[in-house]
Amino acid sequence: MKKDDCIFCKLANGEIPTNTIYEDNDFRVFLDAAPSTKGHCLIVPKEHFDDLSELDEEIAAKVMPLAKKIMKLLKEKLGWDGFNVIQNNGKVAGQTVFHFHTHLIPRYNGDGQDLNMKPGSPKEGELESVLKEIV
Ligand code: 5GP
Ligand code: ZN
Repeated sequence: MKKDDCIFCKLANGEIPTNTIYEDNDFRVFLDAAPSTKGHCLIVPKEHFDDLSELDEEIAAKVMPLAKKIMKLLKEKLGWDGFNVIQNNGKVAGQTVFHFHTHLIPRYNGDGQDLNMKPGSPKEGELESVLKEIV
């Protein structure tokens, strides 16, 4: 299903042209319009899902193999030194386009990007207490 007012539905399905590096029946992979680094691209399913929690299982199972394939292509073509795979869900987590997508971000020594998480320092017993809430 597509969503009428969704820009990624239009880009993924070719209704609006975009800088495509890969396409198959389920996905389009295109360059991010505001790249964090050279080659930053997005894996976008052609069907609309708001985020990972809504994603179809069969589509979900194809995302990582595709990420690996594009990662290898970008290594060959751009020669990155490292690589981030990032997937944001919800506004508080940084999602700005509410059509599921996965960021592929080649990293280069000295690229000046800071996409790293800040490590926390849990108090004694905190991890065990969180665990109890979950399992
Ligand atoms: P999010 O913040 O939702 O995880 O990522 C959305 C990404 O989509 C951003 O990196 C943003 O630059 C990119 N983006 C937003 N609109 C467009 C567009 O129209 N075309 C392309 N190629 N990228 C877009
Ligand atoms: Zn959409």
